[in-house]
Amino acid sequence: MGFKYCKEGHIMDPSWKHCPVCLAPLRGWLVRIKENGASGDVHAIHEGKSFIGSGAGSEIRILDGKLARQHAYLAIQDLCTVVDMGNGPPLRVNNTETVKSTLIDGDLIGMGEAVFKIKLL
Ligand SMILES: [Zn+2]
Repeated sequence: MGFKYCKEGHIMDPSWKHCPVCLAPLRGWLVRIKENGASGDVHAIHEGKSFIGSGAGSEIRILDGKLARQHAYLAIQDLCTVVDMGNGPPLRVNNTETVKSTLIDGDLIGMGEAVFKIKLL
């Protein structure tokens, strides 16, 4: 009640015809990397700020990785930056703990038990 979701799972006001997150230019994808090294779920990432976490308000919602409700966010303008929200286990980029890091295509991002590879356009 009070909300609906777009096809990517973003929360929308019921009166909105289009999802504002999905309307922003596509800038790449976050690809879940499973423990055996295989690729898992793919999450589209758009220009602007996207929260990653287990909470319903997170643009990139991960329910099975022991993430905080808002674990980190991606900020994409000219550069792509990932910032730890300090709500859970430390953010890792390429297996090094960090609170803020500029990402390049192919970087590995670890949050909780989940690991992602970033694919930037
Ligand atoms: Zn959307």
